[in-house]
Amino acid sequence: MAAVNNFRAEGWSNTNIPEFLKQMRLKLDERRLHQYDDPGPIRDKLFQDSYEHKGTEFDDCKECCDTGYTISRCQRGDGATRLLDEPFVHFGNVASSNQLQISATERNRIQKEHEAICFEMEAAGVLQEYPCVVVRGICDYADSHKNKGWQNYAAATAAAYAKGLLAMIPAIDATSSAQSTERSSPQHPTNITNMTFGNNADGIQTQNFHGNVQFGRR
Ligand SMILES: [Zn+2]
Repeated sequence: MAAVNNFRAEGWSNTNIPEFLKQMRLKLDERRLHQYDDPGPIRDKLFQDSYEHKGTEFDDCKECCDTGYTISRCQRGDGATRLLDEPFVHFGNVASSNQLQISATERNRIQKEHEAICFEMEAAGVLQEYPCVVVRGICDYADSHKNKGWQNYAAATAAAYAKGLLAMIPAIDATSSAQSTERSSPQHPTNITNMTFGNNADGIQTQNFHGNVQFGRR
């Protein structure tokens, strides 16, 4: 948890996320070279809350939805604009459920009621087994409009954040850690014994959810 707080205190400008993203791309072969690029503001499609997806779940918005109902980044204020390949990091409550959420209205209700900053489907299950920090890359707006075009970049940014976070955790003696872990909790991997985070309240992400929702402590 101290590492998360340190990361937060350092501020976005002092992190190495853009550099980590560059390093990741250097390892890609030619075929995948641009698969993890920032799609940019033109492909950032936030539709008005009242405008629902017009096609099936398999149809891309560009084939069935009217982009006249989208709200561009600059229309959303200064907080929504950013430079290419400089993703923002947000810290707050992560809403986790085992079902997809496809309603902007329900999303807004949960956001207000629980101060949720993102929605996802896996963290609650993991947290039942391991105390951990949840890090999620944001790829859509948790509404009826799916946008697979952001999934790769969201995964890359979450990985870059996780790398930066791990770099802030002091190195430990793996041998002594492994010995103490075997004594106390043999089923846990030894390489996370120094990460004693107690809730899922810190992370970045959103996906879609619906149904029962669990929240971590703030
Ligand atoms: Zn749509």
